[in-house]
Amino acid sequence: MSSPDSATYELLIGGREAPGTRGERQALTDPASGQEVARVAVGSADDARAALEAAEGAFRESNWASDDGARRVKALLKLAGLVEAQAESLAQLETRNMGKPLRESRGDIAYVVRTLEYVSGLADKVEGETIPVPGARFDYTLREPVGVTVHIAPWNYPLLLSVRSLAPALAAGNAVVLKPASLTPLSAVAFARLARDAGLPDGILNVVSGPGREVGEALVDDPRCASVTFTGSAEVGRRIAELAARRFVPATLELGGKGPVIVFPDADLDRVARGIGYGIFGNAGQMCWAASRLLVHESLRPALVDRVRAAAEALKLGPGWEDGVEMGPLVSADQARHVLEYVTDARDAGGQVVTGGERAHGPRFDAGHFVRPTVLADVPPTSRAVREEIFGPVLTVASFQDPEEAIRLANDTTYGLLAAVWTKDLGLAHATARRLEAGMVVVNEAPVSFPQTPFGGFKGSGLGYEQGARALEPYTRRKNVLLNLGTPKRKG
Ligand code: NAD
Repeated sequence: MSSPDSATYELLIGGREAPGTRGERQALTDPASGQEVARVAVGSADDARAALEAAEGAFRESNWASDDGARRVKALLKLAGLVEAQAESLAQLETRNMGKPLRESRGDIAYVVRTLEYVSGLADKVEGETIPVPGARFDYTLREPVGVTVHIAPWNYPLLLSVRSLAPALAAGNAVVLKPASLTPLSAVAFARLARDAGLPDGILNVVSGPGREVGEALVDDPRCASVTFTGSAEVGRRIAELAARRFVPATLELGGKGPVIVFPDADLDRVARGIGYGIFGNAGQMCWAASRLLVHESLRPALVDRVRAAAEALKLGPGWEDGVEMGPLVSADQARHVLEYVTDARDAGGQVVTGGERAHGPRFDAGHFVRPTVLADVPPTSRAVREEIFGPVLTVASFQDPEEAIRLANDTTYGLLAAVWTKDLGLAHATARRLEAGMVVVNEAPVSFPQTPFGGFKGSGLGYEQGARALEPYTRRKNVLLNLGTPKRKG
């Protein structure tokens, strides 16, 4: 059986691992130490096309899409079991490659297992319906897989976000091509090896890593691509949507966020401070659904800011693979620079750095991309730090006087992914949830999701949904069949 430990990771096309047409391998380094973790093949547009061809061939010839969904149920469940058996080594790989604390990587792999289990239960329920129509006719619908589906993933939850979209596509009977983020392709290749072991036919799951502009665009801009699911930045999402629209190909877009956290005066401050800590410092803030804008009732502001500052300063920073570490480095030097630019910007605009706002220094940190958990207050609402997604451990704080103002501030963003509300007043919680322009609202919780609950954004946060009982819909098409039953012959 394959192990995810080998130090060279190739492309996986048509069931075979190969270095790709370029023959180049890129060294990937541990964001905490700068040491090389592995070498990975750099794919090209030609490799993308080879993967689409392999997928199309497998879709036509392998019977993966055959009417008997039981085969897909069994294969996906077996894959869930193999991932579970390799959970620790996959989590280690994710942490070495991406930097997040092991505890979080373990949670991500558990989520992958649960996602596979959940969608496996949908694989034999791709059902049509019968529709009453006038006259001697019979009408019914068939739901069919679309064919070859393309999945483009980001680097912040490398395996989790890849599997979130490709698992339902597989469950529906499609053949899949995955392009993981160039920085974090390792767990995807390890996963695809396990999929082969689980009995997925060759070519049903292909992985091509490589530069997004070249490999990603070649995958989407090809007649064999019948659907695309993109998780990443709004800028690239727009490009994907344009390419998909040219060929009328459906696109699911999971983009960024600038999540508000509304804290009403009756909230339990200790729980709020813990929830806020997870919501912005979890995964070093590199989360689309990060709860990055704290909106607190003015009566609570000093006490809550004190608690959040204390929690930020108490967080144990370090390499994700060390025991007890609560926040790891950012994924790359560029990302750390990018995040700190927002702090400079906020300072220049008159904002106050309550804590953090700088790199972490010292022998444990100097070789990595560590940025201290940061809280910014009094930043003008028009400044970049308040308006743009920072994608790092940076919380901005503003206060409000009444629920109207809280909702206005919360909705004053181009994004609409997740919003959090803290109050003991359930009437206020429900009324506020209804008025928030966000695809997901959590009440008295840090950001949390489950494979059975829909995940998607409003406004600039995307298009369409993933997860939930309708997770297979983007990967199936409906065909209506109408039969004329003829005029029944009269007896005698
Ligand atoms: P990114 O947009 O830079 O890259 C995402 C993927 O697209 C990568 O695989 C990349 O190689 C590829 N890509 C880049 N240019 C491309 C192009 N022209 N054509 C096709 N593919 C291309 O995003 P990122 O930096 O990897 O991830 C961070 C972003 O992802 C943030 O904005 C974050 O909010 C968002 N995100 C959203 C969700 C969600 O579910 N809504 C989840 C995680 C991350």
